[in-house]
Amino acid sequence: MELHYFEPFKTKMTEPIRLSTREEREEWIRHAHYNMFNLRSDQVMIDLLTDSGTGAMSHHQWAALMEGDESYAGASSYEHLKETIREITGFEYFLPTHQGRAAENVLFTVLVKAGDIVPGNSHFDTTKGHIEYRKATAVDCSVGAAFDITNEYPFKGNVDPEKLEDIFRSHPVEKIPLVIMTLTCNTTGGQPVSMKNLREVSELVHRYGSLLFIDGARFAENAWFIHTREEGYGDKGVREIVREMFSYADGMTMSSKKDGLVNIGGFIGFREEELFRRATTFNIMFEGFITYGGMAGRDMNALAQGLKESTTEEYLSYRIRQIAFLGERIASYGIHVIRPFGGHAVFVDALGFLPHIPREEFPAQTLSVELYIEAGVRTAEIGALMADRDPVTRENRYPALEMIRLAVPRRVYSDNHMQAVADGLGRVWARRKEIKKGMRIVEEAPILRHFTVKLERSEFTVHSS
Ligand SMILES: *Cc1c(COP(=O)(O)O)cnc(C)c1O
Repeated sequence: MELHYFEPFKTKMTEPIRLSTREEREEWIRHAHYNMFNLRSDQVMIDLLTDSGTGAMSHHQWAALMEGDESYAGASSYEHLKETIREITGFEYFLPTHQGRAAENVLFTVLVKAGDIVPGNSHFDTTKGHIEYRKATAVDCSVGAAFDITNEYPFKGNVDPEKLEDIFRSHPVEKIPLVIMTLTCNTTGGQPVSMKNLREVSELVHRYGSLLFIDGARFAENAWFIHTREEGYGDKGVREIVREMFSYADGMTMSSKKDGLVNIGGFIGFREEELFRRATTFNIMFEGFITYGGMAGRDMNALAQGLKESTTEEYLSYRIRQIAFLGERIASYGIHVIRPFGGHAVFVDALGFLPHIPREEFPAQTLSVELYIEAGVRTAEIGALMADRDPVTRENRYPALEMIRLAVPRRVYSDNHMQAVADGLGRVWARRKEIKKGMRIVEEAPILRHFTVKLERSEFTVHSS
């Protein structure tokens, strides 16, 4: 008989969840101007706003923390992390940074200049931000399937090699300093990149004489998808797959807040010493000396341990299974979810959920608010609010998809919590036709408005059909 499934860890320390009533939550969210970022964490019962820096450390990591070496130069924690990164990724050289976007800042200061083009699968927003800040252009070469929610293609994070080659054919290589592959592709829903695609892209990029960098925030989750979905990798271990993935690249940037299993931190990995040397100057300027780069010694120690834990079969099978569990429980109510499920989050289609709320009234934000009031669950809107206004016409932009994202912190919640989230969403689904009002903007910032926007319930009333 098969063993009953259970999480591969037990609880040693607990953090209480403040239980709230619907009346309290209605009051709190009104006070927060219907913006999830304005809620205090104790006003939230299950927090699925993000999986970034919200994970739980193991007791080995807490022990590693105690042994951190806080020497300014040459700390043993640095050596320990360097050795671990070399072992896991194969990159000989590395620079610590305070988080992922700092790694991007340092690397792009060396490589990217005005007028350049940086192709990739869909770039993460801070990556795109750092490219555009330098007056360069991030070009999205994702496969077509990436944007089709009904398409079950297993590697929706892939780059379309033809789109990429077109760019290399039509521009001098000096204008394309690097190509970035984001593993998994956050922007398209935590979707993985296949090994075959990495190999092809690497061959193409190097044939034209450019560099390939991996944005590896969720590299371990990506490796697990290769292990379970790609032909020829079922018998290979996670570590072996990770090594092969990185073997195709010249370096990586990392947000350790994801698959590093720590709450803050980042790094850059390099294959060649020359590029490492050039980046070192800027790392010292922006982040800190070579051997700490914005991280405490204890945090580097905990990160080294986190990288070892995130690249194990026990951890990854638990992680990816829990996301799928949440997705399937939600789908069991007939609610439309994006498939295949990604590595860190479940996405719910708000247009299918609230088809009677017009897009000008932000159906995804409306759904996010209703779920909060119903069950105390905090989620992120990935729709028109986040898409912002067109910088030129100042009109609202309406992306193809209007979704809420349920991002699951690592090792924090049990399947019971996931079941409660799905049931809460199921109760909103049962009363969806009674949700007659969307949202209206009262106040907004000129860019990145979703973080600070103030909203109220619209006065719109649905006409019964
Ligand atoms: C989070 C993230 C970043 C930025 O990292 P921070 O640690 O938040 O600065 C970059 N790329 C991807 C894919 C990410 O998920």
